[in-house]
Amino acid sequence: MNLQEEIKNLVESLNQWAYEYYTLDKPSVLDFEYDQAYTRLVKLESENPSLIREDSPTQRTGDVILSGFEKFQHPFNLYSLADVFSREGLSEWESRVCKAIPNPEYICELKIDGLSLSLYYENGQLVNAATRGDGSIGENITENVKRISDVPQTLKEKISIVVRGEAYLPKKAFDKLNDERELQGLSAFANPRNAAAGTLRQLDTSVVRKRGLATFFYQVAGSSPKDTQEEVLEYFEELGLVVNKERHFAKNMDEIWSFIEQATKRRESLPYDIDGVVIKVNSLAEQDELGFTVKYPRWAIAYKFPPDLAETEILSVEWTVGRTGVVTPTANMKPVTLAQTTVSRATLHNVDYISEKDVRLKDRVIIYKAGDIIPAVERVLFEKRPIDSVPLEVPLNCPECNSDLIHFEDEVALRCINPLCPAQLRERLIHFASRDAMNIVGLGEKVVTQLFEKNLIKDEADIYRLRKEDLLLLDKFGEKSAEKLLFAIDNSRGNSVEKLIFGLGIRHVGSKAAKILAQHFGNLKKIAEASIEEISVIPTIGETVATAVSNYFNQAGSQKLMSELQEEMLNFDFLGDPVQTGGILAGKIVVLTGKLTSLSRNQAKEKLENLGATVTESVSKKTNLLVAGEDAGSKLKKAQELGIEIWSESDLKAI
Ligand code: AMP
Ligand code: ZN
Repeated sequence: MNLQEEIKNLVESLNQWAYEYYTLDKPSVLDFEYDQAYTRLVKLESENPSLIREDSPTQRTGDVILSGFEKFQHPFNLYSLADVFSREGLSEWESRVCKAIPNPEYICELKIDGLSLSLYYENGQLVNAATRGDGSIGENITENVKRISDVPQTLKEKISIVVRGEAYLPKKAFDKLNDERELQGLSAFANPRNAAAGTLRQLDTSVVRKRGLATFFYQVAGSSPKDTQEEVLEYFEELGLVVNKERHFAKNMDEIWSFIEQATKRRESLPYDIDGVVIKVNSLAEQDELGFTVKYPRWAIAYKFPPDLAETEILSVEWTVGRTGVVTPTANMKPVTLAQTTVSRATLHNVDYISEKDVRLKDRVIIYKAGDIIPAVERVLFEKRPIDSVPLEVPLNCPECNSDLIHFEDEVALRCINPLCPAQLRERLIHFASRDAMNIVGLGEKVVTQLFEKNLIKDEADIYRLRKEDLLLLDKFGEKSAEKLLFAIDNSRGNSVEKLIFGLGIRHVGSKAAKILAQHFGNLKKIAEASIEEISVIPTIGETVATAVSNYFNQAGSQKLMSELQEEMLNFDFLGDPVQTGGILAGKIVVLTGKLTSLSRNQAKEKLENLGATVTESVSKKTNLLVAGEDAGSKLKKAQELGIEIWSESDLKAI
């Protein structure tokens, strides 16, 4: 056997053994044997560097010091999961699935409490690894992921695929790490998830290698080569990716629930942390049919284990005005440890919540924390209520502008409806300048507050009218910082319009919905002119959002603001990838009517949308085209009256 062959054999055996060890959890050789082969390989390679193979296990362990992490734009949106915390919540989800899918089959998986990863393989080679980030932009952590020992550098098949999974720190490795840190006088990590996240952001890759991170993979991002989730997991195993073995089929709520009960019992004894159970519809075709909301897949849900609880005392309550005028109570409490962090504030949500829970000053309460949200009061310990407990006073006037507060009948919130309430305007402007909105660096809460107090800005457009002299009036502002801020403000005029839409703070319009609206309509003017109907044809935009958008733009105040922003030369166009550009029906509003014979209505709709059209239900002056099947009735008549272009089903098919 020549050297080259020996090296090849060693590499292949070592990779196979690693696969058996990590992925299959069935080692076929002793550790000793593995180490011997490894040592031999290192020796041969160091004597013959030209013969080092790319797939050699030694190649993953050479360490580097990184200078930082680059942003990574995911080619698909990496969705997160909707959460439920009770059997009822889960059961509601299950019923919704059953409405759309006749006999769904579910697969239940453990929800690994680690860090979400996506791995990009090209021709079987690991080329990139990134964190999820906000789902669209993450961080490129390829070098670090290459140092996780169970992540294959080379898949068993030469395919190109993007896989999603979770990196975690096994409990044992976590304990060992914290012991070591204690010895070194370093602060301990609060939990394995924080430790895993901290590890993957290390600039010294040798740290990653030593800490013993591990992975589980559970999903293909983008189009899948398989038909069911189960097949995907089996395929992952064949490819050499580690999948979690604890999975379970279920046909109904009872079966799902029994898996959850079992997982709850076994949680402590598992070698890694889990924070719940993920339930997924097994068939990928059915998953497609269910689709996504703006934020989450409808075909999966995370059942989270009941949250952590702690007992403490209510010291005082503050009322603050948000940008929509809602006045919310927050309790200041005796500091207490909850879910491994110290907390001293909890939300009381609203007046109804306070009266329903009967929370008083000096009460002892149980607070809880679910996920990353701020703690909330779960209940009062009435048996411990002191005789001098003080009922909370609900404010009658706005804490900022003193105008009367209103409690609308159909909502629980207490509101300041003074449109000139400084608190609201200030919060609105802080939001406008914030990162996900116009991202004006340097225009944070403190600066906005000062500008506001000095009467230098009253609304969004005023930001663009600020001069250097104005900024020099602010604390800690000199020539340089003033110029820097002016530059940032000026720069933001060119933002793609979704940032502006989000920044306007329209009710129910988060940054995702803003982007979808921008992508769909292409331009702010078009959104402002669109009817509720035209907005709600967008598959992921519901009635509530559509109504809120339309209401917003119908207000005189908003229209005035739009024209001022336009005068200030803000960009109103979407600058990202438009949906279906250049389709021959791009930007056209199309109505379908009558019976179609060769296409289903959904197929026709999909075809029209692929051609760039927006399909709406009823014919109006804005309609550009009517596609009429057999026996078309009133819609056809109306379209004819309005002189709208009309196509038959075969016209559509001909394209
Ligand atoms: P959350 O971060 O609480 O919104 O929950 C969503 C995250 O759960 C996903 O982004 C994944 O990183 C993670 N996760 C853990 N285990 C699984 C699993 N078996 N299937 C899907 N997601 C999982
Ligand atoms: Zn007010």
